[in-house]
Amino acid sequence: MGRTEELIREVDRWSAHNYHPLPVVIERGEGCWVWDVEGNKYLDMLSAYSAVNQGHRHPRIIAALVDQAERLTLTSRAFHNDQMGAFLHQLCELVGYHKALPMNTGAEAVETAIKAVRKWGYMVKGVAPEAGEIIVCENNFHGRTTTIVGFSSEEQYRHGFGPFTPGFKLIPYGDIDALRAAVTENTVGFLVEPLQGEGGVIVPPEGYMKEAQAICREANAKLMADEIQTGLGRTGRMLCCHWDGVTPDVVMLGKALGGGVYPVSACLADEDVMDVFAPGDHGSTFGGNPLAAAVGSAALDVLVDEKLPERAAELGDWFMGELSAIGSPHVEEIRGRGLMIGVVVKESSGTARPFCEALMERGILAKETHYQVVRFAPPLVITREILEEALAAIGEVFRAPAPQPA
Ligand SMILES: *Cc1c(COP(=O)(O)O)cnc(C)c1O
Repeated sequence: MGRTEELIREVDRWSAHNYHPLPVVIERGEGCWVWDVEGNKYLDMLSAYSAVNQGHRHPRIIAALVDQAERLTLTSRAFHNDQMGAFLHQLCELVGYHKALPMNTGAEAVETAIKAVRKWGYMVKGVAPEAGEIIVCENNFHGRTTTIVGFSSEEQYRHGFGPFTPGFKLIPYGDIDALRAAVTENTVGFLVEPLQGEGGVIVPPEGYMKEAQAICREANAKLMADEIQTGLGRTGRMLCCHWDGVTPDVVMLGKALGGGVYPVSACLADEDVMDVFAPGDHGSTFGGNPLAAAVGSAALDVLVDEKLPERAAELGDWFMGELSAIGSPHVEEIRGRGLMIGVVVKESSGTARPFCEALMERGILAKETHYQVVRFAPPLVITREILEEALAAIGEVFRAPAPQPA
């Protein structure tokens, strides 16, 4: 038995089967490259679902991690630490908010936003107790807690996990009339991804977020943007909402906030929302810990100093054009923004999975999403030369007869 097979068997034996990874076992990474245990080199075109926007093991981020690890790693919020304030100050100024509440995973940032906006609804807006409603979109992905999967429209995410938290109303994504019709006096917020990632790289109609903002303002409800995947440069802007010139009332960040080395997330808002929290209302043992703060701060420095949003915009534009120019008979549509690109495989050519397997054979790691979509989302530190190499391999796969499932 080869080493790869051995390691995969071990995981199968000792872990729950809640994932279906590509059959590659990675042992090392640097920039946009990773190496498997057999010594094969691959281009990472998933970036851990955009958690590795700054590239694997960015030297500045690793230096911050190591330096902080040698001084102090965890205090809990029972005491202050000397790193958290400066990190949140930097984050708020960069993204344009008065306050941030630090957590660890994306799902926790979403839960934080839900709690903040509900409490704002009762304390400030004056919604009757327990009557607050949050409007959400079909095909959403906001994480995996029971509250969050309770308002998913994906049957598999929910099946067997009920009963669920009430107070959420599902409407079609990208449909501004549906939003207008769904708003009531009890609406406290509209939780939305400015571009749906896990849902299959779905770009909403032009101006959608702008109109959503106007409807929320008129209804005195909070526009809550989940930018956990789209934020921090991925789509060619610091926030994807900036494409529409929109500053949401509440924004959730995660993934790349940890620079690919440590889980760091946050919920950002102004005082009217954030001041609803009193000591003891909400918290996290690890949220805002000094290691996370030092890493998060370095992750933001890299985004700004290396102009990663601008880079994503420029390279993404060019790359999407080149992907179209392949002229594949298997491709129905190519869509996305910046370096968040989805190639939709025609149903007559099978599903996206065999295409991902064929790409892996040629040294490119991409992952299918929603059956028909191959997502290309490389680290934002990638260069045009490396993308050109990738295009040659992608062209070979997409011009050949449709690959068969393994
Ligand atoms: C990944 C993701 C989350 C959940 O983040 P976790 O860190 O996995 O909990 C939430 N929202 C969006 C849009 C995401 O892409």
